[in-house]
Amino acid sequence: MKHLSKLPNIGTTIFSVMSALANKHNAINMSQGFPNFKSDQKLIDLVSQAMNSGYNQYAPMPGNIELRKAIANKMELLYKSTYNPETEITVTAGATQAIYTIISAFIRPKDEAIIFRPAYDCYEPAIEVNGGKTISIQLNAPDYKVNWEEVATHFSSKTKMIIINTPQNPSGSVFSKADMLALQKLTENTNCIVLSDEVYEHIIYDGLEHESACKFPDLKARSFITASFGKTFHNTGWKVGYCCAPKVLMDEFKKVHQFNVFSVNHPTQKALADYLKEPNNYLGLSAFYQTKRDLFLSLIKDSRFKFTPAKGTYFQVLDFSEITQESDIDFAKRLTIEHGLASIPLSVFNNNKKDDKVLRFCFAKTDDTLKKAAEIINNI
Ligand code: PMP
Ligand code: GLN
Repeated sequence: MKHLSKLPNIGTTIFSVMSALANKHNAINMSQGFPNFKSDQKLIDLVSQAMNSGYNQYAPMPGNIELRKAIANKMELLYKSTYNPETEITVTAGATQAIYTIISAFIRPKDEAIIFRPAYDCYEPAIEVNGGKTISIQLNAPDYKVNWEEVATHFSSKTKMIIINTPQNPSGSVFSKADMLALQKLTENTNCIVLSDEVYEHIIYDGLEHESACKFPDLKARSFITASFGKTFHNTGWKVGYCCAPKVLMDEFKKVHQFNVFSVNHPTQKALADYLKEPNNYLGLSAFYQTKRDLFLSLIKDSRFKFTPAKGTYFQVLDFSEITQESDIDFAKRLTIEHGLASIPLSVFNNNKKDDKVLRFCFAKTDDTLKKAAEIINNI
């Protein structure tokens, strides 16, 4: 049988590659982004309670209504932004499914979608499998700042979508209010949809505030916001997330959602609905991870790696240019195999695999793991 691949240039995602290498060599795994500690026992107990009380059949297509109401309350509380839980919120199988579904609901062949690189790796394949064209704008280490005048030169009537991600994976940078206002101005009076990937909304440091797209009324009117409970409640394996958008956009989303997943794991939705009733369950997350970031950085401050502290996410980028001129991919592999510490090379997320000699380390790890990792880093 012969077939032409729809994604001829796509291999296996770097997260699977590096985690497999870490497992094979018994290395500390700071590559793929997941915590190595348990989520709150209360939340785990709520899932078994939900199973024992009968939440074991299909959830309603857009999600358990108690959970959608709890999400609406959170949006109101955090951003003073109103979303109708009946029509403007859908629970998804992780943010990944939300992102794929948004892109496939709106991108037609030849439509352009702008992304900022280094970019999380699920955007481009979803654009291309739907026949769209990815327009990449490269951001540069160490600040990864957007030049909105440059973005304007790539923006045209063909631009169907702009995908932003703040706090940003993999760079750990965040968009400021000025960035969001510039985006709002750029897209004003156009048909451009904004996909605002905000899975790290609760992980932002040094007193910075998360600038959600829903805080800017004109932006909100054209935006999907995607979020992930895996990131917020330390259970990436549950794969439950959600998206919010004005009804006219969400109606189109649901046309695809009902046929690519229909509905999402029900008992975890019920548990999350109950758990979200207590805002302290997510309000403390920034402080929790800032302590980890600061511990990790204080332990490696005298190493030969250079860094600018991450402003958000649980990823820290480290510059190894004073250590070796190897490619970041080779160095990441060698670190894993020879030194027992796995990370993610950033070039895989860049335009033309641009190599800035930086690696990404996930610090969502126990303090003990961070100390062991720091020892390895200090010996390089
Ligand atoms: N967007 C970004 C920026 C991510 O880092 C991730 C990975 N967690 C996702 C989306 C996907 O989230 P989920 O695991 O909920 O599918
Ligand atoms: N979001 C996680 C990361 O950035 C990975 C998720 C995945 O493996 N697809 O590491």
